[in-house]
Amino acid sequence: MASKISDFLGSAAAVATGMGVTFKEMMSPTVTEDYPDVPPSFQERYRGTHVLQRDENGLEKCVACFLCAANCPSNCIYIEAAENTDQTRISGGERYASVYNIDYSRCIFCGYCVEACPTDAITHGHEFEQASYDTSTLIYRKERLLTASAAGSAAPAEMKRAS
Ligand code: SF4
Ligand code: SF4
Repeated sequence: MASKISDFLGSAAAVATGMGVTFKEMMSPTVTEDYPDVPPSFQERYRGTHVLQRDENGLEKCVACFLCAANCPSNCIYIEAAENTDQTRISGGERYASVYNIDYSRCIFCGYCVEACPTDAITHGHEFEQASYDTSTLIYRKERLLTASAAGSAAPAEMKRAS
């Protein structure tokens, strides 16, 4: 008899604990995203489409060192390097990337390229709408990845989703 009462009390306590969690969640603010009617919010660390950054003078930070491509496990970064000249200066270093493509049909958003970059030229933005029926559209060129803003100025469009 004593064991039955003990079992009953144990079950009642378990139900009460479970219902406590339920009521607590009912009182919590909703976390449902209203996408696509409202842009979703992301954690700062979210790894979305990459952004090629500029320095405070508006020059491209990428110096075409190829370290990002060398560290990419998916081999999805393609770079062609060119020399800066006195007449034409694109980046702060000796070289710049005349071509910088990322193939998003292969990218796994591991972030190794970001970790490898010695100049913080490549970062993850918060853009995520990449779905396509045509994989050729998933090759993003430098012109699409490059931020329009110099460092320290207003955030580029693809970063504004975070706010
Ligand atoms: S996130 Fe990873 S897979 Fe994607 S380009 Fe960078 S290193 Fe390559
Ligand atoms: S993005 Fe960074 S690691 Fe990649 S080539 Fe440019 S400077 Fe080098």
